[in-house]
Amino acid sequence: MKTIGLIGGMSWESTVTYYQLINEAVHKRLGGLHSAKIVLWSVEFDEIEKCQSCGDWAKSASILSETAKGLEKAGADVILICTNTMHKVADEVAASVRVPLLHIADATFDALQKRAIHRVGLLGTKYTMQQDFIKGKLKERGLEVLVPESEDMEMINSVIFNELCVGKILPESKEKFLKVIEKLKAQGAEGVILGCTEIGLLIKQADTDLPVFDTTEIHAKAAVDFALACESA
Ligand code: GLU
Repeated sequence: MKTIGLIGGMSWESTVTYYQLINEAVHKRLGGLHSAKIVLWSVEFDEIEKCQSCGDWAKSASILSETAKGLEKAGADVILICTNTMHKVADEVAASVRVPLLHIADATFDALQKRAIHRVGLLGTKYTMQQDFIKGKLKERGLEVLVPESEDMEMINSVIFNELCVGKILPESKEKFLKVIEKLKAQGAEGVILGCTEIGLLIKQADTDLPVFDTTEIHAKAAVDFALACESA
């Protein structure tokens, strides 16, 4: 079994989910007392968020690259950045280590392709919805990506940072998110990407009939596939 390196803490609420899902998947596949080999480096989210809001992506790239190097030194065979937003600096982080980085958009694309989805809605932070570091990777492979209108983007971004990242799961926010999902469906979306690793704490597949692609679940599963590649070969 290979060792999975997690750059977590963005926020720690979703890192908990990664840790749990990865261990559950390894146990499901191998049974018995099997669990995942994980090295977790949890960063200080306030520091990262300040870099985001003042646009200092170079500083956050350097923090995450140092973290990736630390994980590699500690024995990680693969690196995951446990947030969609910080994939903005994925190229810099990948270049700082010799081991591979499992990109969240690559794993998401594979999941969408398996379900033959061509037009998909994307929910996430304003950075993820407005910029191209996730969307662009999907579009260049032929997917049509729909994002919410600007008022809805503001609402989603605010719920992520002011509620989900601090452990507040509110039914009224869930209702608002479901309304946005309905609008995306009315525009022809065949599925919706939960493109922020905390949204799965609020929205589940059972809440909507539109296929849901939870990037935390998808990314965690990709890590387990990588870690157990030899076991199933
Ligand atoms: N975890 C979130 C994401 O997947 C947002 C937190 C962050 O800004 O990194 O984008």
